[in-house]
Amino acid sequence: MPEASVSESLTTARRRLQDALKAAGRPSDAATLLVVSKTQPAAILRQAYLAGQRAFGENYLQEALDKRRALADLDEIEWHFIGALQSNKTREVAEHFDWVHAVDRDKILRRLSEQRPEDKGPLDLCLQLNVSGEASKAGVTADALPALVETALTLPQIRLRGLMALPAPSDDVESQRRAFREVRETFEALRRRFPEATLDTLSMGMSGDLEAAVAEGATVVRLGTAIFGSRPSP
Ligand SMILES: *Cc1c(COP(=O)(O)O)cnc(C)c1O
Repeated sequence: MPEASVSESLTTARRRLQDALKAAGRPSDAATLLVVSKTQPAAILRQAYLAGQRAFGENYLQEALDKRRALADLDEIEWHFIGALQSNKTREVAEHFDWVHAVDRDKILRRLSEQRPEDKGPLDLCLQLNVSGEASKAGVTADALPALVETALTLPQIRLRGLMALPAPSDDVESQRRAFREVRETFEALRRRFPEATLDTLSMGMSGDLEAAVAEGATVVRLGTAIFGSRPSP
C-alpha cells in the first residue's frame, strides 16, 4: 500500500467512526480506533504512526514481536494482542504487549499476571464473551463470566478493563445489533456486580459491523480490512 493511501485510509476510518458516534448520539471521544495490523509490514505501521495512530492490534505473536522490534524507536506506540492466546505464549505477551483482548480462561489469566514484569505495571485486559449463536467456541459464556472476573480482580498484575466480542459475521444490521446488545447488557450487569473494578472498555465492532457496535456502546473498534483492504488468505 502506498504511503499516501495509509494516511487517507486512516482519515476515512476515523471519519466513519465519528459518523457512527454521532448517529448514536454519543460524544466524539466515546470510542477509539484500534488499527488491526496483522499481515501488514512494519513500514505500513510506521506510516500509520506518522499519521497519528498509536494503538495497533496484532493476532500472531511472532509476527507482532518482529514488528515491535522494527518499530522500537516509536514512542507511545501501544501494542494490543487480539488473537487467541495459548498458554505457551503468555510470557511473551505479558512482557511485550500493553493490552490483551481475548482471554477466556482462568489459567491464561493467572499466567499473564505471574509473568507480567513488575516494572511494567498491570496488563490491561478484556475477557472475551461468547455471544449466543456464535459458531466459534472461543470466549467465556455469560454464566461462567462472574467467576472469571472474580479471579481477574484478585490478580495483582492484571487490570481488568472490560469485555471483547467477536460475533459471527452477518450482513443484517439488526442481528449485528442483537449480538452487541447482549455484550453491552452483560457488561452493564458486571459493572453493577463489581463496582470496585475499572470496567470501562467494550472492545467490539470490526470493518463489517462498526456502526452496529458503536450504536450498542463499543468503546474500542478494531478495524483491519476497512483500512488496509482485504488480507491475503493464510
Ligand atoms: C482480524 C481481526 C479484526 C479486524 O477485522 P476486519 O474485518 O479486517 O476489520 C478485528 N478483531 C479481531 C479479533 C481480528 O482477528
